[in-house]
Amino acid sequence: MTLSTNAAGESQGRRRTPVPSPQYASTGLDVWTMMNQVAASVNAVNLGQGYMSYPPKEFIKRAAQEALVENTHNQYAPPRGRPGLLEQVGIHFANRLARPIDASSELSIHAGANEALLSVFTAFLEHGKGQEVILMEPAFDQYTPNIIMSGGKPVYVPLRVQCADKDPAKDVISSHDWKLDMEELEAAINENTRIIVVNTPHNPVGKVFSREELEQIGAIAARHNLLILADEVYEHLTYGVEHISIATLPGMWERTVTVGSAGKMFGVTGWRVGWSVGPAELIQPTLSAHTRIVFTSNTPLQEGVASAFKLAKENDFLNIQRQEYERRRNRLMAIFDDVGLPYVVPDGAYYLLVNAAAIKIPNDYKFPDFIEERGANFKLVYFFIKEFGVSGIPPTEFYSEPHKHLANDYIRFAFCKTDEGLDEAAKCLQSLKRYLQETS
Ligand code: PMP
Repeated sequence: MTLSTNAAGESQGRRRTPVPSPQYASTGLDVWTMMNQVAASVNAVNLGQGYMSYPPKEFIKRAAQEALVENTHNQYAPPRGRPGLLEQVGIHFANRLARPIDASSELSIHAGANEALLSVFTAFLEHGKGQEVILMEPAFDQYTPNIIMSGGKPVYVPLRVQCADKDPAKDVISSHDWKLDMEELEAAINENTRIIVVNTPHNPVGKVFSREELEQIGAIAARHNLLILADEVYEHLTYGVEHISIATLPGMWERTVTVGSAGKMFGVTGWRVGWSVGPAELIQPTLSAHTRIVFTSNTPLQEGVASAFKLAKENDFLNIQRQEYERRRNRLMAIFDDVGLPYVVPDGAYYLLVNAAAIKIPNDYKFPDFIEERGANFKLVYFFIKEFGVSGIPPTEFYSEPHKHLANDYIRFAFCKTDEGLDEAAKCLQSLKRYLQETS
């Protein structure tokens, strides 16, 4: 027998149900599930969520298969990680950061970059102390809940489009036109601030922070003695610009934990392997938190990633992969050039922010309640998916309430998708032209 319950979980019949924490009690759909369902309802080409719609390269899949049949690769890994993977990640970062890396103290392997981020927040934030973390908006949507779970308070500083000679609703602009106002950043810092999160290459803008910008952020972090959490999961995906790790700037190694992802690097987001890199004093507490959160990441796929690292060098895999992504990026940009919607040219990562202000939604268009209540940007994305059969993600989801309006006109598309998928999207989007209005 099903009994009805009120909001507090108290049954109106005989049975009482346990009451969840308000943070997790919402029955609302998360944005990914919601938009995937909308996409599935019209069989849309899915350019929404950032997973690859093509299989990993054969040598990567084989590395995992071979790891799994080794008897010794099927039991707990040490919490810090399997020695073979620590060694490979150590070699990678010794090159990337141009310094020797001690794999036994300056690295930890995690269950994806997500868990590395949570471990850093857990390790460096205390509950009940009102400690704050600075996020630059748009901000990857896991940061905020992870900070709150760790007892911290997110404080938001938006990137602001600065391109006096261009109108983002009409003109293609650069991801570099999305600027961080350094005075605004410093004004957001107070004696409770503990961490600043720097995501470069950036999801969803595709901005690759310049050396000068990173130097300015670093100087502010040093002035206020902040930890820098460098989320560099797209480090290997830049298009014609150099990715700079903030940890390589003078004086920054000491205060930076850099986080990376095998999922992004090898096109295997489901493997859930990531890492954190930094000085021993910062990695030790991160590792302690990781040990209490998941204890250890899975063994066979750590071994698979270790082999993939080695084979990637022989195959020049990262360079070839970068070229493939650049070709997909250019293809998706050309599709939007053709239909006449401007976008933000991403210098890195695999997302394209399209400005859809020119799409005129008929006044009498009916939206379901779950979309209506989420505001203008969700309505735009819903309309886009339903009418044109190509799905994207509403980037307002990457903003705090006061700044959501900054993204109302944008839709985020992912281009880690097959050529066939992109061709199909091109066909579907032809129907868009009849909805375009002149923007003044
Ligand atoms: N940081 C950013 C900016 C991301 O976009 C993502 C994944 N979308 C992650 C971290 C998480 O990476 P992983 O899949 O390795 O947990």
